[in-house]
Amino acid sequence: MSVAERLAAVRAEIAAAAEAAGRAASDVTLVAVSKTQPAEAIEEAIAAGQRIFGENRVQEAMAKWPAIRARHPDVIVHMIGHLQTNKVEDAVATFDVIETVDRPKLAGRLAAEMAKTGRRLPCYVEVNTGAEPQKGGVAPAEAEAFVRRCVDTDGLDVAGLMCIPPAGEEPSPHFALLAELARRAGVPGLSMGMSADYAIAIGLGATHVRVGTAIFGPRRTS
Ligand SMILES: *Cc1c(COP(=O)(O)O)cnc(C)c1O
Repeated sequence: MSVAERLAAVRAEIAAAAEAAGRAASDVTLVAVSKTQPAEAIEEAIAAGQRIFGENRVQEAMAKWPAIRARHPDVIVHMIGHLQTNKVEDAVATFDVIETVDRPKLAGRLAAEMAKTGRRLPCYVEVNTGAEPQKGGVAPAEAEAFVRRCVDTDGLDVAGLMCIPPAGEEPSPHFALLAELARRAGVPGLSMGMSADYAIAIGLGATHVRVGTAIFGPRRTS
């Protein structure tokens, strides 16, 4: 199948999952995760109408996206990977949305860089719903206070919460927990659901699903 065909299939499944949940398909934004994919594959998705993408590495995004943006100024690129503080300057220049704010130092650096450049990017707070030590994200119990800190102390535009459930676990409890935490924190966005489980995430309120392999096929490098 081509990228355009796979994209159409994903869009159809998003619409069906939204309908089953009594939601409008337009309430769910598809973030096409293009990490490791070459510019040609991204151009295929753009030709098929996709405009919102996700990348997980600052360096890779800096290498790929300026040329694509020059041809398609309306693309939006989300940062969905772990962000080191020494990459904040490049990340704010390269991305349109930062989904992985997960510690005070990073929030402070992002706020300072956004103030300096006047690029006020929407942010998501990443929550480590599975309490996995190797993963980024704030602890669920700290999510509400951290969101408040990001908004009140740093002045960040917190659009919602984001999570990556533990691999091999039933994702539903994690999605439900993220939705509850967002409700308590008073933020509307819920970035959750990947190729294997985005329909489930939509049923539990996802506003953004991050889908890579179901659109682009296997990743090109590791
Ligand atoms: C790679 C990645 C995705 C997409 O994963 P697929 O299983 O290929 O859909 C989504 N979110 C994050 C944070 C990722 O790193």
